[in-house]
Amino acid sequence: MNANIIKEYKDLSVFLLKTMQGAAAGEASAGNSLGALCESLEKAADASQIKRIHKQLKEVVRKEKPVDVNLLLTSIKHLKASLLEQSDVENDLLALVSEFKKMITMALHHIESLSLHNKESQRLFSECREDLQELKSVEEMSQYAGKFKRLFSKTLLFDDETDRERDELKKIISILANSISGLLHSSGDFDSGLDDCVDRLQKARTLSEVQEIREALLKQAQGLQERTRQMVEDVRLAQTQVDDANKKVESLKQQMEKVKQEIIIDPLTRTYNRRAYDEKIKQEMMGFQRYSRPTALAIVDIDHFKNVNDTYGHRTGDGVLRILSGVMKKEIREIDVLARYGGEEFALILPHTSYEQALDVTERIRRKVEESRFTYKSKPFSVTISIGVGTLRAEDTLETYVERVDQALYRAKNSGRNRVVGENA
Ligand code: GH3
Ligand code: MG
Ligand code: MG
Repeated sequence: MNANIIKEYKDLSVFLLKTMQGAAAGEASAGNSLGALCESLEKAADASQIKRIHKQLKEVVRKEKPVDVNLLLTSIKHLKASLLEQSDVENDLLALVSEFKKMITMALHHIESLSLHNKESQRLFSECREDLQELKSVEEMSQYAGKFKRLFSKTLLFDDETDRERDELKKIISILANSISGLLHSSGDFDSGLDDCVDRLQKARTLSEVQEIREALLKQAQGLQERTRQMVEDVRLAQTQVDDANKKVESLKQQMEKVKQEIIIDPLTRTYNRRAYDEKIKQEMMGFQRYSRPTALAIVDIDHFKNVNDTYGHRTGDGVLRILSGVMKKEIREIDVLARYGGEEFALILPHTSYEQALDVTERIRRKVEESRFTYKSKPFSVTISIGVGTLRAEDTLETYVERVDQALYRAKNSGRNRVVGENA
């Protein structure tokens, strides 16, 4: 009979040990007190001494919260071993039943505090408590132990649901860990903390361990998020730099375009310069050879310009050059090319223009210049121009072409200036 009681006691203790393992954290002071109680228990000679020690044990458990359940159960083991050695216990079955009851009450109290508070578990615990009050004999005690195990198995700490929950959680966390790991590796990053989490997860046995790892992983994920944010920031910065560089390139392009223009434009008169003229006249001659399209050339020279400078000064002379250029430009088409040929000489290339048309347009220009009024110190004055005109012929070289037009201009000068003279005149 006594052996049965002890066995039940032992079974229950082992069961409780398994149940509570890992559910509470160790506490040094509780450990020391419990260790001391264990020693006294080993020296205990009879049931009443065991009873007293048990009371002290409860006191320690009550004071030291959270209690180290492992140490508590070690004490229970010691108690059980001591009971086995106590021959006097045979004489006091009721005392044993009472001890059992107290132990169970204490166990219930702690297990309840560790389990989730749902209605079902609360009902089971109150049932267990009520039944415990009814315990009178060793047989009842034996039955109760079986019932306690069954009922307790249904509570949330160790039922199938919790196991499933833990396994599901493990799976989800594994996926999370792997994806974080993948991200980190793909970004060339490496985090040993994460590998540590994965390792621990594989070894995790209890829900609370898994939950702890989940927390650690969440921290890792937050770190990753921070790094991703940093990366996005870096990309944005790089984009700004690229935009700035593009703006600079654009501005350089515009500057280059301007420089290219400056290369072919005469700064004083804003007409084409001699270099541009050389290029354009060559192109025009090529167009003539290829398509036989008529083209004319006029050379314009300001009459007695030396007098203008001498009378009004060089600066006024510059102003006259600038204004006359504007007057002439106004009279020509977009495709015509007005270039400053020399000091006060201009060349006018007139594509698609016949000899007569060329005489007409240059005459119009001459008249407009003649009609223009300049002032020097409020005194008005005017200038005139002489123009030689010619058209390109098939047998012409650039020299013969220009020479003919020059000759016409010479004749315009010699015949009184302020006139247009064509090559055929
Ligand atoms: P002609 O009617 O025979 O052409 O007489 P002209 O005085 O115009 O001819 P000439 O060749 O004797 O003198 C040309 C003058 O043009 C001399 C020069 O000082 C002036 N000249 C040339 N280039 C410039 C310039 O850029 N600015 C100014 N102000 N004068 C210039
Ligand atoms: Mg001249
Ligand atoms: Mg002149």
